Amino acid sequence: MRQDHMERGLQNLLREFPLQSRVMNEPEPVQKIYAEIIRFWVLHAHPPLAQNFPEIPLQRLRMLDAVAISPEGLIGAYPFSAKETPIRVSNGKHQSIFAMCAIDALAIPFLWNAPIEIESACHDCAVAIKWGLDPNGDSPDIIGAPYVAMGHLDGKTCAEQPACSGLCTGIYFLCTACARNLTMAIYPLQEAQYISQMFFGFQVALLQKFQYLQGDLP
Ligand SMILES: [Zn+2]
Repeated sequence: MRQDHMERGLQNLLREFPLQSRVMNEPEPVQKIYAEIIRFWVLHAHPPLAQNFPEIPLQRLRMLDAVAISPEGLIGAYPFSAKETPIRVSNGKHQSIFAMCAIDALAIPFLWNAPIEIESACHDCAVAIKWGLDPNGDSPDIIGAPYVAMGHLDGKTCAEQPACSGLCTGIYFLCTACARNLTMAIYPLQEAQYISQMFFGFQVALLQKFQYLQGDLP
């Protein structure tokens, strides 16, 4: 793995979308609501309802672009999307869910502590992409695993445009053939997983802080 390349990718992502520092700079009651939302997704694998959370901290989290609330009142929280996206994730126990972007999808087995299957399509040639991923980062068929491209990092997140409708659309999977032809920032699966786990690791720490244990899915 190329440590410098991964670190640059991670730092670019954190600069464009400083989710961790936004959440961790909030007072504890807001952090707690955030942790409850993540825990709900981890335990139930479907979106929590906005009506079940106190309005002020929830709106604060929305303002920070830490959560996205659909018109139907469903709460999406990176990496989990309440809306359909081109990246479907399943664990074989629940109905499949959607990830906000490719880097987000790679964090899900780690948060669920369960193996998953990811279904998507190559962004460039649309060939179907489907493979399994373990929480410890092993992929049973790493050879055929897709690449992750991280583009369009142009600083337009938060107030101007939530990451889920801006930044995330530029972070996608590519098949091996298409990845070979590109000069933009491309990461093989293991490098992308490193970026993903470094980016979302604070969520596990936050769940532990409020004693919401990760556990296996029910
Ligand atoms: Zn392709």
